[in-house]
Amino acid sequence: MSTSASPTGSLPAEPADGIAAGGTVTDRLIEANQRYAAGFTDPGMDARPVLGVAVVACMDARIDLHAALGLDLGDCHTIRNAGGVVTDDVMRSLTISQRALGTRSVVLIHHTKCGLESLTEEFRHELELEVGQRPGWAVEAFRDVEQDVRQSMQRVRTSPFLLHTDDVRGFVFDVTTGLLREIDPA
Ligand SMILES: [Zn+2]
Repeated sequence: MSTSASPTGSLPAEPADGIAAGGTVTDRLIEANQRYAAGFTDPGMDARPVLGVAVVACMDARIDLHAALGLDLGDCHTIRNAGGVVTDDVMRSLTISQRALGTRSVVLIHHTKCGLESLTEEFRHELELEVGQRPGWAVEAFRDVEQDVRQSMQRVRTSPFLLHTDDVRGFVFDVTTGLLREIDPA
């Protein structure tokens, strides 16, 4: 995620590499999709993940979850947000994943150099000052990534909504080596 502390942010003045002059990044994505669909064949899968696993991870652009975990199309549910934090909405997705779509394992992935490490709850205060309205959500900023993984594991394991809380494991992904490091829940 962006490490900018500005609530509003701004677009870069120069287009990123690979964006055709005059086109937006979304135009580029649409063109890529047309090439993708041209070579696409219906895999004939239903919505239930083949491996019965849900992965909760940070939205960070440096984490290619499928490549990093050896996952193929249809293998897992992927739930991502800023920080890979177990929010109420992540619990909503996990509950649907387990109760409606048959998953039973949960993998939590935070990572080194996360943008949330440079934010504080002051972000909400600044946002309120700027727009005149306090957001209903917490920033969920953290200083200790291992402790945050433990807290996330605890939230999942103690959820009353889930059917399966016996296989919940947490990791820190190192964005410089590509390696996962498992975090002891204790
Ligand atoms: Zn992150």
